[in-house]
Amino acid sequence: RAIQGGIEAARIARLRESEAVAFLKARPKSQARIGNGAAGFFGGVPMHWMNDWPTPFPIMVDRAKGAAITDIDDNRLDDFCLGDTGSMFGHSPPPVARALRRQAGRGLTYMLPSEDALAIGPLLREIFSLPHWQIATTATDANRFALRVARAVTGRDKILVFNGCYHGAVDETMVRLKDGRPINRPGLAGEFRDLTARTKIVEFNDVTALEAALADKDVACVITEPVLTNSCMVLPEPGFHAALRDLTRKAGTLLLIDETHTISTGLGGYSRACGLEPDLFVLGKPVAGGVPASIWGMSEETASRYAAYNRAKQPGYSGMGTTLSANPLQFAAMRATLEEVMTEANYAHMENLARRLDAGLSTAIDRHRLPWHVARVGARVEFICAPGPLRNGGEADAAHVPELEAAVHVALVNRGALIAPFHNMMLVSPATTRRQVDWLVSAFDNVLDQLA
Ligand code: PMP
Repeated sequence: RAIQGGIEAARIARLRESEAVAFLKARPKSQARIGNGAAGFFGGVPMHWMNDWPTPFPIMVDRAKGAAITDIDDNRLDDFCLGDTGSMFGHSPPPVARALRRQAGRGLTYMLPSEDALAIGPLLREIFSLPHWQIATTATDANRFALRVARAVTGRDKILVFNGCYHGAVDETMVRLKDGRPINRPGLAGEFRDLTARTKIVEFNDVTALEAALADKDVACVITEPVLTNSCMVLPEPGFHAALRDLTRKAGTLLLIDETHTISTGLGGYSRACGLEPDLFVLGKPVAGGVPASIWGMSEETASRYAAYNRAKQPGYSGMGTTLSANPLQFAAMRATLEEVMTEANYAHMENLARRLDAGLSTAIDRHRLPWHVARVGARVEFICAPGPLRNGGEADAAHVPELEAAVHVALVNRGALIAPFHNMMLVSPATTRRQVDWLVSAFDNVLDQLA
């Protein structure tokens, strides 16, 4: 296509090329260290996602603190990616770093509780308004365990997801709609099952399709983010969440709200801000300030049904839990995060600056008369190289302009700002400053000057 996202393809290609050159020029040490891959690793990286950044090679990090990340060539970047939410509260928040130092000499994992663990339970109740919790290590695992509970208590085998969803490496959520028909998500490695046999899929915001899919009363659980944040950003239309809750209740289907990204909304996440009433709740990534940890919670009713199920079930391994989950390092980091980092005051700062970022990016887009838009859920801001608002995952999929987005990413890196790969997401942390936000806006404006 000659025009992509309102920009001439030839211009995009030129920008990509010149920005790649500039990237390399500023990174001689990094190029020597990682330009040809890191020895000993398949594909030259410790985790293959690291090859998916649009930069010529992954940024070789020396250190990160607050909202800045510094590479081994001493290039300092304002970090708006923040580990794609793992560091949403800033890199090494001081209370978390202190807690980790305290725990470091007292044992790192022992499959037993500590005083920090006892402090966490009541905090989870208070912040997330659900009574019964478990700790796991990744949001992926928390989702898998919560889905298991849903199937256990309902005695149903099917789940329902929305097109464009992402809930981590949870096999049964890896389906997509193609021309209105469910398929296994393209690209899955080693998947030998037809996942659509047990996973129903409809478009987000499509109440009619949702109602039809739940009508057979064979769906154990609907799992969703309150806002789709993994396929651009799709906001719920007015009344969608009320309908979702109403229809799931009528169908005897549990509702699992995955707040791993939408915890950007405010204290307690989108659920608390908007009065959602999930039966199951999942949060991973930043819940322990960057230390791998996740939580999953149950409503009173779900928990009592699950307890009854457990009393009746055959004894033996539940298929849930992992050995290093709920370890004292997680307890220490999570307690510090919940008590001192995930605070109303920090959220107010994040919201304030995210609103400023949203407005600044929107103004730059308007000034260049581009058919783009900006979407936001609290501290999470996304520019989308297509008109909006997007209503569902299908539209979001069509809105992606990979070459253009890659060019903009690298151009922003060269101007000192790092945003999340795979999409165009920017997070504002408690450590992010107004100067950093204004700089990002002016860098973005400058990149659009080059393109438009
Ligand atoms: N849920 C959501 C909404 C996510 O966005 C992600 C990761 N992007 C996950 C779950 C999985 O998190 P993790 O990779 O830490 O398991």
